[in-house]
Amino acid sequence: MAHVAVFLYTVYICSIIERVSPVTQWKKRFVMILAAVDLILVLTNPLTKGIFYFDTSGQYCNGPLKFVVNGMIMLALLISLSAVIHHHDAFSVMQRNIVYFFMLTNIVAIVIQTVFPRLLITQFSMMLAVLLIYMTLQNAEDFVDSQTQLWNRTAFIDTLNDKITRKSPFEVIVVKLHEFRNINDMVGVRAGTKLLCQAADALKAIEQDCEIYRVSGIKFALIVPCEKRKAVLEEVRECFATPFEIGEVELKLQIITCVVGYPQNVLSQHEMENAIQYCIANAEKNGDFDTVYADPGTLKKMRRTLDLDKLLKRAIREKQFDVYYQPIRNAVTGEYHSAEALIRLYDDTYGFISPDEFIPRAEENGMILAIGELVFVEVCRMIHDNDIRQYGIEYIEINLSAAQCVQKNLWDMFETVMQKYQIPSEMINLELTETATVQSSEQLAEFMRQMNSKGIQFSLDDFGSGFATVHYLFSYPFHIVKLDKEIVWAAAKQQKASVTLRHTIEMIKDLKLHIIAEGVETQEQADMLAEMGCDQFQGYLYAKPMPEQQFVQFLAEAGCVG
Ligand code: C2E
Ligand code: CA
Ligand code: CA
Repeated sequence: MAHVAVFLYTVYICSIIERVSPVTQWKKRFVMILAAVDLILVLTNPLTKGIFYFDTSGQYCNGPLKFVVNGMIMLALLISLSAVIHHHDAFSVMQRNIVYFFMLTNIVAIVIQTVFPRLLITQFSMMLAVLLIYMTLQNAEDFVDSQTQLWNRTAFIDTLNDKITRKSPFEVIVVKLHEFRNINDMVGVRAGTKLLCQAADALKAIEQDCEIYRVSGIKFALIVPCEKRKAVLEEVRECFATPFEIGEVELKLQIITCVVGYPQNVLSQHEMENAIQYCIANAEKNGDFDTVYADPGTLKKMRRTLDLDKLLKRAIREKQFDVYYQPIRNAVTGEYHSAEALIRLYDDTYGFISPDEFIPRAEENGMILAIGELVFVEVCRMIHDNDIRQYGIEYIEINLSAAQCVQKNLWDMFETVMQKYQIPSEMINLELTETATVQSSEQLAEFMRQMNSKGIQFSLDDFGSGFATVHYLFSYPFHIVKLDKEIVWAAAKQQKASVTLRHTIEMIKDLKLHIIAEGVETQEQADMLAEMGCDQFQGYLYAKPMPEQQFVQFLAEAGCVG
């Protein structure tokens, strides 16, 4: 009977692999058929004596079908081996080692026994290997979360796969504890863990028919029959409606919830996980405490985001980005002494993708650091190759995202690149928006001082587009303030906005900061801004952002040879 275990074991390997990617039906069926044939041969052996029999002297002898059975076992082992090598990520190191050990002992045993039929070594090696698997592969802790005693993520994925394979409809309600880190900070990690267990207990007490999983530290998933979704959601809300007690403290937990259904929203386990992640992240970003549903609109945006991630990854790898330059004009002399570097991305399938779409995404997924570096290198190369100082350009404005300000070794990267292209740091001006300045103010001020000491200056971008912005002007060492397009456009249309702009410009000038007005599209706007005392203009009236060669030609034609 021991060799039936080989087939069961192959099926088990398939089930482990299915946690990460589906195994094709024919492979599973093929192994099942081998197992069934083997079982039939074993069960009928007393009658057929096909696999083995005992001769008149009581000696064990191989039957005529022994070779067939060994061949089938060998085949199953080889299928398992190739599957494990192909999907090695699905197994832990321990599991992999056991699997290889199992393969090796059995293959060797089969070969030995084929050569020496009287040595009953295969039975022994299989039993040994099965024992090892029993002790190591199938471990209860693999499926249960030790803190809350709920099913864990592995169990969740197994169940999803199982239901999806059986085409049985269901919905997943995900509950994420919002900003739990703050709670840990407030009451300490131990009390935080207790609170988490209380939350898990509250969910366990839900009376409706559902399976509950802890899918990550602070995220729970409930698999529910579609018709029970409403009732379960109500119970979930009730669980968190009243505060939890931790010692002397009472704490109310805020939750983010989302619902994703199979097959109405997603068709695979992978899509299900993506949809959950996307809906929860979006709800958190928007501070949305109502239940979020993975409706077609949301899923469309999710697919676009996933496509964008892939596209950005490729664009970084293949340096697919372009950098355009928009000249900035001196309001009095009409000369161009600087320009802003603006990134561009073109894809054959998606066409032109606006930086307003991909930069925020790159900031979320961390790719902004690589993109920022590509832009910086490209700008330095452009300055070097065209020697734009000859046209009177004194510096280039480069947009810097918040994450780059706290990037380790940013200065080292800048220095290496500037040295390579022999660019003095005075030729680089970094633009920061207010959102960058909101984050970790002391760290940012320190970063700016460090850059200033090396010769790099800063512009405050999009000034006037946010709220309470004035204190940034005196809290951080900015050199230039860029007036946001909206405030410029509004001032040209409305009396009150015009008064605000006039006073804003006066204030900035009194602080001895330079001003660039963005989005100057009409002569009327330019005249108004000049009259208010604005230093420099950037806008379509003078020049749109343009590629390198066109930019150089523009400078040459503008006749600003310094
Ligand atoms: P921003 O820094 O405010 O850049 C100015 C934007 O205004 C640019 O949009 C520019 O093309 C546009 N613009 C300039 N003059 C006019 C005008 O007269 N009228 C109108 N309607 N628009 C004008 P763009 O190039 O689409 O960039 C959008 C945003 O993407 C930028 O806004 C910036 O926040 C971000 N961005 C662009 N390049 C980079 C980069 O290399 N790094 C980072 N971190 N962000 C970048
Ligand atoms: Ca900018
Ligand atoms: Ca701007």
